[in-house]
Amino acid sequence: IATSGSSDLNQRIRVCVRKRPLSRREVAAGEKDITPVAGSRSINVNAPKVKLDLTRFTEQHSFTFDEVFDSSITNAQIYQRTAKPLVQYIFTGGKATCFAYGQTGSGKTYTMLDQGRGLYVQAAQDIFAMLAREEYAHLSAWVGFYEIYQGHLYDLLNDRKRLIPRDDGNNNVVISGLKEFAIADVDRLFKVFDHGSQARTTGKTGANNNSSRSHAVLQILLKPKKNSSVIAGKLSFIDLAGSERGADRGDANTKTRMEGAEINKSLLALKECIRALDQDSRHTPFRGSKLTQVLRDSFIGNSRTCMIATISPNGSNSEHTLNTLRYADRVK
Ligand code: ADP
Ligand code: MG
Repeated sequence: IATSGSSDLNQRIRVCVRKRPLSRREVAAGEKDITPVAGSRSINVNAPKVKLDLTRFTEQHSFTFDEVFDSSITNAQIYQRTAKPLVQYIFTGGKATCFAYGQTGSGKTYTMLDQGRGLYVQAAQDIFAMLAREEYAHLSAWVGFYEIYQGHLYDLLNDRKRLIPRDDGNNNVVISGLKEFAIADVDRLFKVFDHGSQARTTGKTGANNNSSRSHAVLQILLKPKKNSSVIAGKLSFIDLAGSERGADRGDANTKTRMEGAEINKSLLALKECIRALDQDSRHTPFRGSKLTQVLRDSFIGNSRTCMIATISPNGSNSEHTLNTLRYADRVK
C-alpha cells in the first residue's frame, strides 16, 4: 500500500512534521522514543501521565498533518515533498517560503541550512538546472542571507551590517543595503553560504547571536539578467529561533527575558500570518513582528508556504514536542 502523505504538493500552505532519530547521547542515557509515527500523516506522542514523571509515558496525544516524516527519512526525500514544489513555483513568478520550526536541537538547521546538504542545496541545484534551459536563459540566481535578532536585521554576508526593510510600493519588501551575490553554480553558493554561516555564529556581539535566539533567512532570488532590480521569483529558507526560547519570558535574566518575549511575539505573529494566507491580506497582522514584516511579500499575492515542524523523539523533551506539534497544528 502506498503511504504517501497528502498527495497535493501544490497547496498554498503545507505543514509537515519531521522527527529526528534519538541521538547517541539520548540512547546512552536510556531515553526512549515516545513519538511513534502512525502512517504518513499522523504522529502520536506518549507523554508522561504526571508531568516530569519520566517513568510512565501513558498519556497519548495524536496529531495529523499534511505529511509526517519518520526519523529514517533523508533530506533528499524530504526535499521532494516540501521544497521542490516551491522551486517549480518561483519559476512561475511567485514567492515561496520554507520554514523550519521547532525546539533547539530538534533538527531545524540540519533540515534547512546544514552545510552542504540542507534543503537549500537541493533547491539550488534544481534552480541551476532550470536556469540552464532555453526558456529561462534570461534569468539568473542571486542569494542573500540575513538574521533577525531582537527585532533587528543583520546582513550575514556583509559583516552583520544593520539593515532596514521597506516596502517598494509594488508589494515587494526591499531590504535596503542587503548584499546579494549572483550565483551561477553550487560551488559559488557554498562559498557565499559558508561566509554567512560563520557570521551567524561568530558575530561581533558574541553570545547575543547564539543561533537558537535568532531567525536566519537564506533567500534565493530570480532576476532578469538585464535588470537585476526586478524580482522574478523568490524562495526563502528560514531557520527559526528555537521555539522553546519563546517561553523564556519569565526568566530571571533581563536579556534572556527580552529575547524570549521578542521570539514569542514573532512566532505568534508568524502563525497568524500563515493562517491568514487564505484570507484577505488586508487583515493580516504583518506588523506584529519584524519577521512577519520582512516576509510580508511572501504572504500576499502569489505565494506558497511550507512549514516543517521538527521534533525530538525522546521522553524528556515531550513538553517541547507537544508545544511544537500544537503550534504546527494551528498554523493551518
Ligand atoms: P536545531 O537547528 O533545531 O537546533 P540541529 O539541526 O542543530 O538542531 O540538530 C541537532 C543535532 O541533531 C545535530 O547534531 C544534528 O546533526 C542532529 N540531527 C538533527 N536532525 C537529524 C536527522 N534527521 N538525522 C540525523 N541527525 C540529525
Ligand atoms: Mg540550529
